[in-house]
Amino acid sequence: SLHRASPHALLLPFPAQGHVIPLMELAKHLCARGVDVTFASQHDIHIKLLRSWKGHSDSWSLHSSIQLRCIPEMLPSESEGASPSNWLKALEHGSFELLRVLESEGRPVSCIVGDFLLGWTSSLARRASIPDWVFCPTNASVLAMYLDLNSVISCGYDPFQSCGSAPIEPSDSQRASHVAEFPLGVTTAVFPIKAPFGKRMYDWMEEVLLECVNRIAEAKLGVLCNTTVALEENVLQVLHSRIRKGESTHHNRFFRMIGPLVTNAAAEHKASRASFWQEERDECMEWLDKQPPASVVYVAFGSLKVLTLPQLHEVLLGLIASSHRFLMVVRPNTVVSESYGMSDIYWEAQDGDVVPLEKALPPGFSSPDQQRLYKIVSWAPQTWVLEHPSVGGFFSHCGWNSTLESLWCGVPILGWPWIMDQVTNCWLLSSVWNVGISLQCNERGEASRNEVESGVRQLMGGAATDKLRAQAREIKDKIREAALHNQEITSLVEEIGSVSRFNP
Ligand code: UDP
Repeated sequence: SLHRASPHALLLPFPAQGHVIPLMELAKHLCARGVDVTFASQHDIHIKLLRSWKGHSDSWSLHSSIQLRCIPEMLPSESEGASPSNWLKALEHGSFELLRVLESEGRPVSCIVGDFLLGWTSSLARRASIPDWVFCPTNASVLAMYLDLNSVISCGYDPFQSCGSAPIEPSDSQRASHVAEFPLGVTTAVFPIKAPFGKRMYDWMEEVLLECVNRIAEAKLGVLCNTTVALEENVLQVLHSRIRKGESTHHNRFFRMIGPLVTNAAAEHKASRASFWQEERDECMEWLDKQPPASVVYVAFGSLKVLTLPQLHEVLLGLIASSHRFLMVVRPNTVVSESYGMSDIYWEAQDGDVVPLEKALPPGFSSPDQQRLYKIVSWAPQTWVLEHPSVGGFFSHCGWNSTLESLWCGVPILGWPWIMDQVTNCWLLSSVWNVGISLQCNERGEASRNEVESGVRQLMGGAATDKLRAQAREIKDKIREAALHNQEITSLVEEIGSVSRFNP
């Protein structure tokens, strides 16, 4: 029998900052249009979100129909083993339990939106007879390349092996031309995933990513990408061509561009984002207020990248040598000794490996004279910073959220990609959208102070700066226009309403 349920979406983020932020933006859009949202995360993330929201009481009233919930902890059984991939799978059991709890509270879930990188959200939805979408927090070009993973591997190219970010060698491009269905004519040099520091990517990352890619077509209602046609006009067709014809899920709206999902700094002046760390908001904004227009380079490498001590020194000394003002984010626990192992990279460094910031600055660095020209904070309100008129450029690792936020604010980028989609995003910025330049570095991804100095000079005061800024302004206008008339979100909300009415 059919019963009437009110629209209630369960949103399941992958437990990482760059995944939680855009999904929370989607939650805000949905709740502004009358959908009840339960935003359920793994325990540690849930605690961080509670802390972030409580620090800004306005968030509660602004988004009162978003309920933050903790996924009940169900650890992998001993026979399954405690690998990160099993740990991720255990979240599926917890989420199934949460569905039961919500039902018993009289708030049955009418649809699920689960992060692509969890891999299991469609099977959870099937098990519970609830329709679902998969959420892909990256752009469509990267997703198209992920969907090519199997064919790329079968052609003999190993994307999980580091290629650094050295310029593409002729042998590589010849090889790429053999890759039958490469989207957009890209070469191996811009294919995502590369491991950092000349190493190979974790086996479990490879296992998880391949499984997620292979399961993406299981989403009952489709895949939502955080991008817009204003940026990636023809890529939807490429995506649709990647799903096998005849698959039951295949229809021409299976992939959708629902972005750009970016925190609207102006409208939510006081409200918090879903930040894992305490934002040093007043410190950043007051300092920026005192700087001349477009004079500051904002330096931040996202929520995961770590820097070795020598590398931090090269970056800082290069910035100082450029003579440009800068505002830099150095997260707690991210400056590590050179012996730091690849195996720890994806999570916060352990205490023993961490170099505290006071001890990490190059000798003589914090002289009062220099201090007027720069500021270092542990976490910034990034969208607010990028929107500030004093900021003239962004030295970034090219995470997709950072990239989109910079485009949204019309700020050109100096890109220093590290891993995963960052490599591809940097290429899109510099070679497709022409709003960025990429930092020269060695095949291990390391940059010298001279390279940093020269990159920052090119970004902030070089021959190409005016052109980069003009192009960035143009893209900013285009994507804000697209966001203003975002029909995709409207139809998503309509569909959530219609699946709710007929939920068995
Ligand atoms: N971010 C922030 N403050 C900072 C640094 C980063 O709020 O000091 C936010 C940034 O705005 C972005 C997210 O953290 O939304 C990082 O996501 P991204 O995809 O750029 O990189 P990742 O952390 O996944 O590598």
